[in-house]
Parts: sequence; C-alpha cells; structure tokens
Amino acid sequence: MNMSEANIIDGKAFAQALRTRIGAAVTNLKAEHGLTPGLAVVLVGEDPASQVYVRNKGVQTLEAGMNSFEHKFDDDISEAVLLKRIADLNADDTVNGILVQLPLPGHINEAAVLSAINPDKDVDGFHLINVGKLATGDDSAMVPCTPWGCLMMLKDQLGDLKGKKALVLGRSNIVGKPMAQLLLSQHCTVTIAHSRTENLAAECAAADILIAAVGRPKMVKGDWIKPGATVIDVGINRIDAPEKGEGKTRLVGDVDFEEAIKVAGAITPVPGGVGPMTIACLLRNTLAAACLQHGIEVPEV
Ligand code: NAP
Repeated sequence: MNMSEANIIDGKAFAQALRTRIGAAVTNLKAEHGLTPGLAVVLVGEDPASQVYVRNKGVQTLEAGMNSFEHKFDDDISEAVLLKRIADLNADDTVNGILVQLPLPGHINEAAVLSAINPDKDVDGFHLINVGKLATGDDSAMVPCTPWGCLMMLKDQLGDLKGKKALVLGRSNIVGKPMAQLLLSQHCTVTIAHSRTENLAAECAAADILIAAVGRPKMVKGDWIKPGATVIDVGINRIDAPEKGEGKTRLVGDVDFEEAIKVAGAITPVPGGVGPMTIACLLRNTLAAACLQHGIEVPEV
C-alpha cells in the first residue's frame, strides 16, 4: 500500500497549457500561411448539458484564435435538412472541422449523420474512415478527443508507456475502444473490460494503468487498484449531495476518489481531470485538420 497519497493530475491546468500552445500555433499558421482554422458545431435540440458544452467549445475556439461557427436546430428538424447542412459545411472552405453534438433526437439516424461528415473534417474522429485509420495505425487519423486527452496526460505522467499493463473499463465507440487502440499504439498490454467481464476487481487490480469509462458513480473501489497505478477517471456522474443543501447535486467520477487516492500513484479528479482536456483536444484536431487540408505539416503542440 502507498504510504503517501496519489499525485493528483491537474487536467484543468494541463488543458489550459495545451490551449495556449494551440493558440501560438494558430498565430503562426495565420502569419505564415494566411490560414485561420474554423470549427463548425452543430447542435440539435435544447438539451441543457449539450448547450453548455457547445457554448464552452465556441468560447475556447475563439480564444485559440480560430473561427467558430454554430449551427443550431430545433429538435424536430428532419434528417434530410440536417444532412443538407452537413453537405454545405463539407463544401465550405472556411470550415476545417465539423462536430455534431451527440446525442441526436431519436428520429435521426446518428450513424448516417456521422458518416455524412467529410472524414478530413471529422474532428470528433467518429467517422468509420477515422476509426479504421486509428485501428490500423495511420497517422492521419482524426482521433476521438476524450481518449486522446487521456493519453496525453498518461504520457506526461509516465513517459514511455511501453510494456505497461493497461485496463480500459468500458467499450464504447467514443471512449473505451479508441482508448484501447491508443494504448496499444503505445505498446501497452491492453485489456478491455465491460459489463460481462468476470472478476472485474481482480482484472483492474492487475493494471499499471486503469482507465475508467463506465458511467457508474464511484464504482471502482480502492481495493480494485494496484498500489502505485495511474488512474484516469473519464466518468462524469451527477449524484445527490444533501450535505450541500436540499436538492443539491455534485459531479463524481467512476472511481471512488477518496479511496483511490490512498492507493494509486496518480489519479485524475472529477471534475477537473479528463473533462477539460476533451475540448483542448478538439481544438488540436481542428488545427491538425486545417493543416492537413492545406498540405501543411501539422505542428507539434
Ligand atoms: P457508455 O457508452 O454508456 O459505455 C459504458 C461502458 O461501460 C459500456 O461498455 C458498458 O459495458 C460498461 N459498463 C457499464 N456498467 C458496467 C459495469 N457495472 N461493470 C462493467 N462495465 C460496465 O459510456 P461512454 O459514453 O463511454 O461514457 C462513459 C463515462 O464517461 C460516462 O460517465 C460519460 O459521461 C463519461 N464521458 C466523459 C467525457 C469527458 O469529456 N470527460 C467524454 C465522454 C464520456 P457493455 O458494453 O457491456 O454494456
């Protein structure tokens, strides 16, 4: 057991520093190539959480010196109208990245919408072309933002990841699977666990790197964690917080932070860990997309 508490990985500060570096790269791109990257975000409906995400994305895009375009629709919009807008954005040279905020209303086929985005502008990395590129190790892949942010923090924390045992808890297309691919690309020995995994606690406890992306508040307990392991908590769960007053809530991750901090070597908090990195990586993808579309070498940020 660790005698000292885990290092808390400050995702907020890490993301801020990354956004500053992206801003500097955008300034160079404008000066040297007269190119200002542009990100279009498409929002359907009134979901309050999605509205907050989209607003934050817009603010941070402008702060990084890029152009931000918002396309908002009522939730009764037809799929055909949405697909037409995506075709227009694909054809618009001022738009280098397109993001459709998920989830979409039930009457719209999400897969059809995502596959209508030009893969070169698919800054979320959800198009099948980009999924395939990531799986086959093609450097030009647009990589999904949340797992990409997790990998950046892991490399910053641990340096070379080669040979480390990594356990990815969750197998969604947006987090778990791309996370596993990224860790594999770094030569980790990767296990993917999910709701049918047997002996889940023991699987977790064998891992040097534990990524939790399940959407179950505080599911990963302290004794599921190998002493000294690096724990990345992707989960965002809102739970009741009567201690803050009647009807109040708070955000927690998928990991029981209070227990884990006594065992892990390093851990991301919720909030302030993985969350802020996601938008920073979206900006990084938009910068990369703009460069790739103009045959310009993608700057390291
Ligand atoms: P998801 O699509 O619901 O997938 C959850 C995964 O967890 C599934 O693979 C599921 O297994 C597995 N799972 C569920 N219950 C489990 C259990 N009791 N034991 C073992 N595995 C279990 O979720 P997601 O979209 O990947 O998101 C996961 C969490 O990350 C959520 O809290 C979400 O809000 C958060 N998130 C955060 C960010 C960010 O920016 N920080 C971004 C995206 C998501 P099966 O496949 O077997 O059903």
